[in-house]
Amino acid sequence: MTKGMIFNIQRFSVHDGPGIRTTIFFKGCPLSCRWCANPESNHSGAELLHTPASCIGCQSCAAACPQGAITFPEGMFCYDASLCKGCFACAAQCPTHALTIEGSWYTVPELLAEIGKDDAFYEKSGGGVTLSGGEPLLQRDFARELLKTLKEKGYHTNIETTGYVETEYLESILPFLDLIYMDFKHPDSREHEKKTGVPNQRILENLAWLLKREVPLVVRIPVIPHFNHSPETARQYGKILSEIGASKVHLLPFHQFGQGKWRALGRSYDYEKEKALHEEDVAEMAAILGSFGLQVQING
Ligand code: SF4
Ligand code: SF4
Repeated sequence: MTKGMIFNIQRFSVHDGPGIRTTIFFKGCPLSCRWCANPESNHSGAELLHTPASCIGCQSCAAACPQGAITFPEGMFCYDASLCKGCFACAAQCPTHALTIEGSWYTVPELLAEIGKDDAFYEKSGGGVTLSGGEPLLQRDFARELLKTLKEKGYHTNIETTGYVETEYLESILPFLDLIYMDFKHPDSREHEKKTGVPNQRILENLAWLLKREVPLVVRIPVIPHFNHSPETARQYGKILSEIGASKVHLLPFHQFGQGKWRALGRSYDYEKEKALHEEDVAEMAAILGSFGLQVQING
């Protein structure tokens, strides 16, 4: 049976589509956005996460590690992800669960058992299930099998996607989707590549292709300081999106919710000193997009 590598199952989500939803977070992503709020999603395999607040400094983890990936210079926990082989002997020895493993394998029936716990809430609120990540569509066979089964069972389905997938694959899952949230991180391909690791051409082609289909689609723009947070960028977005026939846009102001996780994963975070943006900070961009006839919602 196909299995999916999942790092979180979030019940009672209210920002990932209509009504009350369960959001399934898939591991693995073809992009590497420097501001990512879910950095534990970037790699496709299970990985180690250290929570300093729970750590008592007993060093049992270092003693258990055969690779020397955990050390305690000046008594401080230090993890070198480049040496780690993912055996998780350290997490097994941690007495306080300060070391946890992000990512577990699930079958479709196992996920359905979790999802089914909130059937009454979906029904009452007009909610359903959202596949998120990471990029949920990177685990192609598993994502398709899950979406197909959800649809057969009558659930409302949504995906939060980077759009960086093959168009043929998107076509194959369209019958199982009620809604698509697709990110579009920068209208200029070179800028897009600088901060996400990939150009925007495939994403733009998929957006244009999907907008000609029946499925409802929302374009999501994470608004990031010194990247796409400017009136000029909003005008570029407005021109492109109105030309390809987009109608709904969500602006998602930058926040630092992922900061602690970057540290916990032993990775450096470029936005340590950046201030979060608020609704008023993106109001001008929203107005510019609106002037192109787009329906804009801040925070989604
Ligand atoms: S998971 Fe990595 S850090 Fe932990 S014991 Fe294994 S090799 Fe060492
Ligand atoms: S075993 Fe756990 S509590 Fe002990 S030092 Fe390592 S992470 Fe901290």
